[in-house]
Amino acid sequence: MRDKSTEIPPGYQESLETVDYIGAPLNTPEMKFFTRIGPLQAFLNEQRIAGKSIGLVPTMGALHRGHMSLIEASQENGDFTVSSLFVNPTQFNDPGDLERYPRDLDTDKLLLEKAGCQVLFAPDTREMYARQSQVRFDFGQFDKILEGKYRPGHFSGVALVVSKLFNIVRPDSAYFGRKDFQQFKIISIINDDLNFGIKLHCRPTVREVDGLAMSSRNLRLSADGRNHATTLYRNLLSARQSLLDGISWSQVRAEVEENFRSSAGVQLEYFELADSATLSTEVKDLTKGILLVAAIVGPVRLIDNLPIA
Ligand code: AMP
Repeated sequence: MRDKSTEIPPGYQESLETVDYIGAPLNTPEMKFFTRIGPLQAFLNEQRIAGKSIGLVPTMGALHRGHMSLIEASQENGDFTVSSLFVNPTQFNDPGDLERYPRDLDTDKLLLEKAGCQVLFAPDTREMYARQSQVRFDFGQFDKILEGKYRPGHFSGVALVVSKLFNIVRPDSAYFGRKDFQQFKIISIINDDLNFGIKLHCRPTVREVDGLAMSSRNLRLSADGRNHATTLYRNLLSARQSLLDGISWSQVRAEVEENFRSSAGVQLEYFELADSATLSTEVKDLTKGILLVAAIVGPVRLIDNLPIA
């Protein structure tokens, strides 16, 4: 069987493969655009020598206001902001999901430029994975539960690409969204265990007006699916309220599961209460708890979470 993990996703190949945009029209005075590691590092070394602190915002593109809030946080901290845009094949356990992942480099570039991002690094798959990587990460319990249970290998792929980006960019700070809460835990573990020494920022989830957490995958929801998708946040809110009202977790969970069963078009994968430090489902102090949900809406898998306090 052919190994697809390091192949360039369709649609991405034409736009980025073997094209070096340094000096090309996409490279504007406002934002430098790199597809190659070497020139990016040379440029960042100059910035470092000039005393700038570097802030990294890793993304997979199809940018929305959630991503832009991370760019803004980096800008507010006075960082020289580097955003990376790479749809990382090694973190997709479903090849169909990788193939259909939304891609819009031109719009992303305009959004980043408008937000004052100084550097966009958008390598192709060959630049990031010159050869089939042999490295696999094992996070013990952290990658066997919640997302890890439903997406085997996902967090190993995330850890691999984020480690690569940390080594390539060598940022002082890096910015992530709380929407991917378990992912942030995994990244904190590699930051500590591998001594990257980067200041990590976990930023709040940005939502649509009806509460749906912003996500690039929302673009793939049908009109009906878009309506059904609000079920996730509505149940997070009601479950939190019930817990705060003193209702037991087993009763709250049963009610939530019943709500999902009776919601057309939404298939629940998990709805858990976990300790926000350990992700253990044995929560001794409710104020340190976090509710986490994953559900499938039409062709799209959505995740969300809500801290209790
Ligand atoms: P992605 O492009 O989905 O890999 O996400 C890149 C970064 O943006 C990750 O750190 C995400 O957690 C963060 N992010 C995604 N959606 C949101 C959101 N709705 N609010 C805040 N951050 C987000």
